[in-house]
Amino acid sequence: MRILLLDLEPTARKSLAKAVHWLSNGGEVWPFRTVEAAVKQLDDRDTDFQLTIIGGDDGDQLLGAFTALAATGNIPPTLIVSACTSVEAAIGLLKAGAEDFIVRDAEDDWIRRLPDEAAAIVSRSQSQRLRNRLDADLRESQRRLMQIVDGSSVAMFVIDHRHHVTHWNRACEILTRIATSDIVGTNQQWRAFYSEERPCMADLVLDGAIEARVAQYYGNKGYRSSAVLAGTYEAEDFFPNFGDGGRWLYFTAAPLKDDHGRVIGAIETLQDITEQKRAKEALRENETLLRQIIECSSVATFVINEKHEVTHWNRACEILLGRKADTAIGTRSLAREVYHHDRPVLADLVLQGSSDAVIALYYEGRYRKSAITDGIFEVEDLFPDLPGGERWLHFAAAPLRNDDGQTIGAIETLIDITERKHAEERMLESEQRLAQIIDGSAVATFVIDREHRVTHWNQACAALTGLPTSELIGTNQQWRAFYADERPCMADLVLDGAMEARVAQYYGGKKYHRSLVVKGGFEAEDFFANFGSNGRWLYFTAAPLRNSQGEVIGAIETLQDITEQKSAEENLRQSEERYRVLSITDGMTQLYNARHFAQRLREEMERAERYQHPLALMVLDVDNFKMFNDTWGHVEGDQVLIRLAKSINQCLRRTDQAFRYGGEEFVALLPESNMEMAEAAAERVRATFAGAEICPVPNQPVQCTASIGVTTFVPGESPRDFVARADSGTYEAKRQGKNRVIRITPKSADFEI
Ligand code: GH3
Ligand code: MG
Ligand code: MG
Repeated sequence: MRILLLDLEPTARKSLAKAVHWLSNGGEVWPFRTVEAAVKQLDDRDTDFQLTIIGGDDGDQLLGAFTALAATGNIPPTLIVSACTSVEAAIGLLKAGAEDFIVRDAEDDWIRRLPDEAAAIVSRSQSQRLRNRLDADLRESQRRLMQIVDGSSVAMFVIDHRHHVTHWNRACEILTRIATSDIVGTNQQWRAFYSEERPCMADLVLDGAIEARVAQYYGNKGYRSSAVLAGTYEAEDFFPNFGDGGRWLYFTAAPLKDDHGRVIGAIETLQDITEQKRAKEALRENETLLRQIIECSSVATFVINEKHEVTHWNRACEILLGRKADTAIGTRSLAREVYHHDRPVLADLVLQGSSDAVIALYYEGRYRKSAITDGIFEVEDLFPDLPGGERWLHFAAAPLRNDDGQTIGAIETLIDITERKHAEERMLESEQRLAQIIDGSAVATFVIDREHRVTHWNQACAALTGLPTSELIGTNQQWRAFYADERPCMADLVLDGAMEARVAQYYGGKKYHRSLVVKGGFEAEDFFANFGSNGRWLYFTAAPLRNSQGEVIGAIETLQDITEQKSAEENLRQSEERYRVLSITDGMTQLYNARHFAQRLREEMERAERYQHPLALMVLDVDNFKMFNDTWGHVEGDQVLIRLAKSINQCLRRTDQAFRYGGEEFVALLPESNMEMAEAAAERVRATFAGAEICPVPNQPVQCTASIGVTTFVPGESPRDFVARADSGTYEAKRQGKNRVIRITPKSADFEI
C-alpha cells in the first residue's frame, strides 16, 4: 500500500506516526509538509496512492488541505487523523468527502469517533459516493475479467455469490454446446455437464467446501486441492456426451474474493485433455502389449529401467539363465547369473550410453555395433556353465527411449546359438578339408561362390593360366584367365542354372554337352591361343555346388590340358583322310578310281531319282592305244592317259566328277546335266584332247583321240544298265570311225551323232 501523508501540524506528529505505522503495515509512505507539495504530487498522476492521511489539529486547516487535495480529482480515500474533537470540524470534513475521521481518545488510543449528529449527515452522502465509486470499480473490474474470460481459449465460466452464472465464454460454449445467452443469469451450470442437478466444482469452491464435500462428488476423479491457491480444487472426469465418443475434461475451480477476502464468486476452467488421456491410455496399452510380447516371446528377453533394475524377465529367460522372474525382477545384479561376479551386463552398458571403447573393455573382439540402429550392440560369447551346460549365446541390447529421446531403460535379448556355432565349426572344418583337396589336386580347379567370386584357385590352375591365386581370390575376374573381354566362364553359367541355349551361346562349336555325372553340370573343350607356346586345348567341366537343402551356393570348374591328346587325334584324322583320298584316287592320273566310281554312281543315281533331277554319264576310250603303246612304249602311253585326264578336268564343271574306270577307259558323272549339256561337254573334251600336242619324240607331234559315249539316267534302272548304255555309245563311236561323240537316248535305240 502506498500512502500519501500530509503532515500539517508538528504537535500531532507523534500520534500521526503511530497511526501511519498502524495503517501502512509495511507499506510505502510518501510524506509531505505542505498542501502545495501534496497537491503537486497528486496532479502529477504518475504515482498511484491507495490512501491519503492528513494529520493536524486545526479543523479549518484540515478542511482547507482536504479541499485542496480533493480538487485535484485524484485523491484516494482519505483519513483524517486529528486531536481535534470539534463536531463541526468533523462534519465539515466528512461532508467535504473525507472517508473517515479518527481522533485520539482519553486513553490516547486512536478511535474512529463520529459524533451522532454527523453520522446521519455523512452516511448518506458518503455511502452514496462510496457506492458510486464501488460500482464504477466493479464495472471496470468486471469488464476486465470479462475480457480475460472471453479472450481465453480455455473454457471458463464464472458464478457469483448466489451461484448464478455471470460469465460463460466462447470456448465454454463450444465445449458444452450451451449458448452464453442461455446460461448467464441462471444457476443451471450443472446442465452443461450432468443429467441431474448437482453442484459443479465452482459451486463447491464458492461454498468454501471442505475436502469431504469435494470427495463426495469427485471421489474417483483424481481431485486434489491446489498447492498454489488456497480454496482451489482440480479434478478430471469423462463426459460421454461431449464431442464424438465423449471427452476427458480437466477442471479447476477457484474462489473469487473481494478486497476484504470475502468470497464473492468462483471461476471454473475446463480443459479438454482427451487426446492427452488417449495418448496415456495408448501408452498403457502399449506397455501391456510390450509386457505380453516379452512374456510370450520364445526369445529370452529382459528389460531394465533407468535405475538398472529388472522390470521384465520372461519365461524363456528363466529357462535359459535358470533364474525365476520373481527373483530377478527388481534386482540389479544380473551378471552373477552368467559371469559369476559383479560387472555390468550388456543392457547396463547400453543404458549408460557406453562408448565403443567401454563395450570393447568387456566384450573385446566378440561384439559389434548394429548397423541399423544407433546405440544397439550385439555380442556372441561362450558361457561355460549355464543351466543347459556350455552354451554359445548371441545377445543384443538396445536402449529404450521416451518421446523426448531420453534413455529410460534397456532391453536385452539372448539367443542360444550353440547349435549354429557347432554347425559353423563343422562347416569350417569341411571347408578346410575342401580347400586342402582342391589345392592338392593336380587338375587345375577353381571354385566360385554364390556371388561369382573366386573362393579357390589352386596351384595347378595358377600354373595353367599364369594368374597367381592371390590375384584371383575374392574377385570375380576369373574370365581374365581365359578371355580378352569380360564374359561368363562355364562355372558362371552353371551357377546361374544356365539352360542349354545360354551355354550354346558361349560354347557353340566347342563340343559342349551336359555332364553325364553331375546334374546341372556342363563340359566343353576349347582352344586357348595364349596358353603355352603354341596355345593349349582345354577340356573343362563345371558343376554346381549345393548346400544340404539342395540350393546352389557356388560352382566348381576343372580344366584339363588336352593339347597332346588333341594333336594325336588331329594327326590320326589327317592320316585317315590321306588314306581315304589315296584309296579312292588313281595314282597316275589323279582322277578318282573305279572303286570310288561305283560308290559315287550309286549316290548320284539315288539323288537324281529322289529329286527328279537329270544325271548324265560319259564313257571315254583312247583310240588305237594299243598301237601307240607298241610304237612309243608304255611310259609314253601313260603320258597320253595323263593328258586325257587333264583334258577331262579342263572341260568339266566343278560339280562333275571324272574317274579312271579301267586301263585306258575313263568315265565322268555329270549331275544336273541333260543330254544336250552332256553331249556338249563330251564334245569339248574330245576336241581339247584331239588338239593336244603329244610329242613322244621331241618335235614330232603325234595326234591322239578318244571315242566318247554319252547317255542320261532313266529313273529305276540299274547302274549296270546305265553304264552299259553309255558304253554302247563309245562302242558305236569306234564303229563309226573313232574321235567322235555318240549319244544314246534312253528310250529309242537310235544313235545320234
Ligand atoms: P581301239 O581304238 O579299238 O580302242 O583300239 P585299241 O588299240 O585302243 O585297243 P584296246 O582298247 O583293246 O587296247 C587297249 C590297250 O591299252 C591294251 C593295253 O596295252 C593298253 N593299256 C592298258 N592300260 C595301260 C596303261 O596303264 N598304260 C599303257 N601305256 N597302256 C595301257
Ligand atoms: Mg579299250
Ligand atoms: Mg582303246
